[in-house]
This record gives sequence, structure tokens and C-alpha cells, in this order.
Amino acid sequence: MTVKRDIQPNWRPATRLVHGGQLRSQYKETSEAIFMTSGYVYETAEEAEAAFDNSQPRFVYSRFGNPTVSMFEERMALLEGAEMARATASGMAAVFAALACQVKAGDRVVASDALFGSCQYIVGEILPKWGVETAFVDGRDLNQWRDALSKPTKAVFLETPSNPGLRLVDVPAVAELAHKAGACVVVDNVFATPLLQQPLKQGADVVVYSATKHIDGQGRSLGGVILGSRKFIEETLQPFLRHTGPSLSPMNAWILLKGLETLELRVQKQSANALKIAQKLQGHSKLKQVHYPTLDSHPQAELARRQMAAGGTMVGFDLAGGKASAFRFLNALKLVLISNNLGDSKSLATHPATTTHQRLTVEQRAKQGIDEGMIRLSIGLEDVDDLLDDLLEALKAA
Ligand SMILES: *Cc1c(COP(=O)(O)O)cnc(C)c1O
Repeated sequence: MTVKRDIQPNWRPATRLVHGGQLRSQYKETSEAIFMTSGYVYETAEEAEAAFDNSQPRFVYSRFGNPTVSMFEERMALLEGAEMARATASGMAAVFAALACQVKAGDRVVASDALFGSCQYIVGEILPKWGVETAFVDGRDLNQWRDALSKPTKAVFLETPSNPGLRLVDVPAVAELAHKAGACVVVDNVFATPLLQQPLKQGADVVVYSATKHIDGQGRSLGGVILGSRKFIEETLQPFLRHTGPSLSPMNAWILLKGLETLELRVQKQSANALKIAQKLQGHSKLKQVHYPTLDSHPQAELARRQMAAGGTMVGFDLAGGKASAFRFLNALKLVLISNNLGDSKSLATHPATTTHQRLTVEQRAKQGIDEGMIRLSIGLEDVDDLLDDLLEALKAA
């Protein structure tokens, strides 16, 4: 079910984030209504029949569509400049559906190796179990992409910047190689957010988000979203979603709609805070390296400036003293919280080697650039000088 809404095509992103996709009920409420309903009623049996044969499109069941969820989908599509969007209950449901809906046994998928742990599990473990051939490449190396895409390929999956190494993939270059191999390019754009990087404009076919991160942005709700062409969504994705049921709750869709209203303000401030922190930490005597996409010391800084409007809200650094030093640092923090979530208004610190990427072997971590002394920081909305005071004080303990 798709509902027509009044939107001005010339609205800029900040306006779309506040007004995009809103459906008003007969009560003309200002704020988006929460339609907490699983089903819908029909005046007559004929009306039910018409709804099911699609001659009279309307909401029939919330696994298929719900007005609050539909407002969130429409607002996301407007923001991203996508023809359509579909929401899911979590980011992983979005990643899984975006890939699983289009592959069958015998197909080939090529992915960047620097992926969020669960994404790597889907590509490396679940798809092969179902007879899909999968290959991983170093996402930074166009020669590896070129080799891997010399055979017909159904889908390409990548994350840029990657979690937690902040490694980049050249989206237009990979998209060109992928399209020659016949592949659909799926980009997990969580770290960059829809405001700092628009993969669809750079040649990607499908974009996925964990809306749990910056889109909610205040640590309240899980959610995910898949964006792409009308043809992909209606013909390939929608039947998969309808029958497998990873639907977003209307309550969570409402939280995410409210998150979108402040997304631009939050991402701008958090990204500015992150840049300042990366700059101040660079060269600190306890650190081997600071990772931030637009820092001159980042090996792909030129690509970051070309592909992203700003470096994002995430900063990484490698403590020279390894795991013991990383733990001393985390335990000395007084303001920044130890948590594996990200994109929150509260600043969060994680030790990837013992948490989010614990399942990997030491060699696999090294390959992805995850040092045993690496700390991943998700920078929030606090005063940046308070954050710096806390980080520099904790570094003394490291
Ligand atoms: C968190 C995250 C996911 C998974 O999202 P959930 O909402 O936790 O299911 C996928 N990709 C990236 C890059 C993430 O950071």
C-alpha cells in the first residue's frame, strides 16, 4: 500500500526530515499519529475482496503495511532520493532481506571483508549454506574487486566507512565494475548516515541502514530500512518481506520518525565534535594511530573528501599498550560510556577486539585492521571540551 502525500519536490533535506511523508488522519494532528493496529476493517465483503485483488489499494494487515511505518518509509525515501523504501525491525533484518530476496543457489555474491560482524556472518556463513557462492575482497583494493567481479555476480555488498576500522570503499568505481558483472550493488550506509553520503547518487542500487543508530539517535529503538528503485522494492524485495515478516512496529516507526526530525542537527554537531577529537588525539604519546576518514593521515583521506560531505561521528584509535592499555583507558572514563551501540546522543566507547569482533580470530581481526589496542568511539552531542577532558584524562591511565 502506497499513499499519496503532499510534498514539494524542491524541499531541501532538512525540510524533508521534518515534514516528509506525513499522513494526517481526520483529526488533523500536528505530530505523526501512532497507528498501533495489526489489522484493518472493511465496510463490506466486496471491499475486502477489492483490497486483496489490489483493485482498491489500502492497508490490509500491518505485516504488509501500516500508516505510521509508511510515513517513516516515505520520509526516508525522500531524504535519500530513492524511489521507494521499506522498513524492517532491525538493521540486520534489512541487510539480510536486501541480499536474501535476490539470490538463489548457484548465484555469486562479492563483499568487502571489512563488515559489521553480523553482516559478515550473513555473507560468510548463511548464504553459502544455501548454495550461494560468496567471495570477500579487501574493499580498499580496486584490483581485488576487479578480479572478483570478472565472473558473473548477482550482488555486491559493502560498508563504507567500515565498522570499526573506518576503511573506505570507492563506491562509483566498485559500482561500475559490479554493473559490468551484472551485480546489484548494496551499500550499508550506517556510518556515513544519509546526510554525509548518498550511495544511490554514486552508482549503488540499494542502500540499507540500521535505523537503530543515527536515525533514532537516542538509543531507544531498533529499526532498519532498505531503499532502492520502485522495481527492486515492489518486484524483488516486497514479496520476500511480506512472507517472511521482519516488520517494524508502528511504535518504533514513530520513534524513528521523531529521530529523523533532528537527524541533521545531531549528525552535524556529532561529526564536528568527532573531527575535533580526532585532530586533538592525533600524535598523542599513548597512541599508535588515530583513525578518522578526513584526517590527512588517513590513507584514503582524498577518497573520503570526494565521497563524503564530512568525516562522520565515529573515531577510532589504537593504543600502543594493546588490550591491557585499552581496558585501563575504558575503566578510567567518567563521561564517555562503555557500550557497543553507536550513533547515540551519548558518547560511547567500545573495545572491538573483545566485544563486537570477539568472534573473529586474531588473524581475521588483523586483516580488517582491528588492532588489539583499538578503541572505537561514537561521538555524541555533549560539549566537545568535556569529552576531550574525559578522553585525555583516561589516556593518562592507559
Ligand atoms: C549496527 C549495525 C548493523 C545492524 O543493525 P541492528 O539495528 O543492530 O540490527 C548493520 N550494519 C552496521 C554497519 C551497523 O553498525
